[in-house]
Amino acid sequence: MAIKEFDTVILGGGPAGFAAGMYASRGAVSTAIIDVNMLGGQPSNYLELENYPGFSAIGGFELMEKFEEHADKFGVEKFPMQEIESIDLVSNPKIIKTSESEFRAKTVIIATGAKPMKLGVAGEAEFVGRGVSYCAVCDGAFYKDKIVAVVGGGNSAVEEAMYLTKFASKVYLIHRRNELRADKIVQERAFSNEKLEFVWNSVVKEIKGEDLVSTVVLENVKTGVVSDLAVNGVFPYIGILPNVDGFSGQIEQDSKGFILTDETMKTSVDGVYAVGDVRVTPLRQVVTAASDGAIGAVYAVRYIEALKEVTV
Ligand code: NAP
Repeated sequence: MAIKEFDTVILGGGPAGFAAGMYASRGAVSTAIIDVNMLGGQPSNYLELENYPGFSAIGGFELMEKFEEHADKFGVEKFPMQEIESIDLVSNPKIIKTSESEFRAKTVIIATGAKPMKLGVAGEAEFVGRGVSYCAVCDGAFYKDKIVAVVGGGNSAVEEAMYLTKFASKVYLIHRRNELRADKIVQERAFSNEKLEFVWNSVVKEIKGEDLVSTVVLENVKTGVVSDLAVNGVFPYIGILPNVDGFSGQIEQDSKGFILTDETMKTSVDGVYAVGDVRVTPLRQVVTAASDGAIGAVYAVRYIEALKEVTV
């Protein structure tokens, strides 16, 4: 098995990982980015962002390409599509074993991001790809002139519901309360969208169909009334969970698994930093992920320099 030694290994090639990679390699430490998927992270699937400073509107994929080019400029080595076998954050050096290589690193920056939360109802897993989808940008076009339901009341649910109105003849937004969590500006746009119909105080109890989804069973949480709603597709957008497979339990995390850090992005384990959506943070945006990446990398570089001083 090939052994690859780096000062810093970054787990995850999204905005936090690329920003960390750019800062670390520019800080003259050898840096690798490892990802289990293609590089680019969650924003690669966003049709458009209009809140990344400097770009009043830019495609998510395009922005991530720019992040990657910027990291490339300073010599980050990239390892996408890795099959990870084990991660030891506590040992020194830290060791990440993949099916092909053993990576050894003085520091690890965790930038693995987050994944969609599941509704956990009957029919959800069964109908994935046959009416249940967690990515409106990927699958929206399949619902031309169809009826779909989006579940949730946050920015993701409302924005994705509006995106789906470009294709679908009608989009129901099913929310468990009678007030949205999404930003006010997003709410205003949604309320003026004629194809969007809000189903308040309601939760999905079951997703039904034969080959494809045909119905969601709803329960009104105020009245207890259960009813069927005819839909061709269901898009749950009820929040996110951290990607911590392979190292959960080795560092301090909150009850959902998000990683606790201090303001320098340091975790409870020496030499391990966590940046972006995977950590406990009040705002999860591309700009905050990039900011976290910069801070984490600067402190990882300082940690590496301090180690060199000790060993000289
Ligand atoms: P979120 O803000 O946590 O919203 C999750 C929504 O799902 C909430 O409305 C919540 O209801 C509902 N929910 C949670 N669990 C549920 C369940 N089991 N059943 C039914 N409904 C449930 O998550 P998000 O919208 O995915 O956003 C995640 C983060 O990314 C946020 O910080 C958000 O601001 C950010 N984001 C920003 C943008 C942007 O600025 N353009 C776009 C997308 C996402 P309650 O409201 O009742 O809790």
